[in-house]
Amino acid sequence: MAKKTPLAEKLEAIRARITDAATKARRDPAEVTLIAVTKNAAPEQIREIIQLGVADLGESRVQVLQQKVAQINEFHHRRVQAADVNVAGKLRWHMIGHLQRNKIKALLPLVSHIHSIDTLRLAEEIDVISDKSGRKMPVLLQVNTAEEPQKYGVAVGAALHLAEQIDTMSGLQLVGLMSMAPYGATESVTRRLFARTREVFEEIKWQKIGGASFRHLSMGMSADFEPAILEGSTMVRIGTTLFGEATGPEEKDDED
Ligand SMILES: *Cc1c(COP(=O)(O)O)cnc(C)c1O
Repeated sequence: MAKKTPLAEKLEAIRARITDAATKARRDPAEVTLIAVTKNAAPEQIREIIQLGVADLGESRVQVLQQKVAQINEFHHRRVQAADVNVAGKLRWHMIGHLQRNKIKALLPLVSHIHSIDTLRLAEEIDVISDKSGRKMPVLLQVNTAEEPQKYGVAVGAALHLAEQIDTMSGLQLVGLMSMAPYGATESVTRRLFARTREVFEEIKWQKIGGASFRHLSMGMSADFEPAILEGSTMVRIGTTLFGEATGPEEKDDED
């Protein structure tokens, strides 16, 4: 067998850890989608990970996402045309970062899911644009379970009501919740926060908001995807462990 590349080895190790965590939680590992977060990845690395069979890519900034879609979708299309059996038939781009309203129009046609809905106003604006195009955009509500004042996300106490409002919008399909643990939190704190997000999830589900489509918990990054899976995560968003640390300037949100 050919020698594995470093990225192939890292991907394999992460897949094994996902399987172990799911097994420990008595869950089917296939319920957990790995989203490769490409914000610090070079184009060659993204092309490589696609050739290793990864179908879900995540980006946190609209402009960067646009550039990467332009570079990568064409490549993906050519691999599919070439009948590369290792490449998934469809690529899905996930918007995982804070979203400015003036970027919605450009973003919508490019992405399969938006994980970062946290205000009624943002939901309404996406709804209007998405509805015009005849699409029901799959979205996740970002919940600030950690209750960090400086962080994005709807407060736990307001999540159910916002979910209800989103559920009435014809251009949106509420498919789940997203949350993040604070940087550097201990494993027990992290687990408690993910458990809290899961409770909010169960409550929304109990109210039948979002129907059968409401089934995702987007929780877990490089540092904490295992506790996230133990608490029911169905989408883990992993960047650093695959592609290494950021080399450029600090990651920043888009400016308006
Ligand atoms: C960057 C980022 C990730 C990936 O984090 P890593 O620690 O690099 O795995 C996941 N989710 C969001 C929202 C991010 O911005």
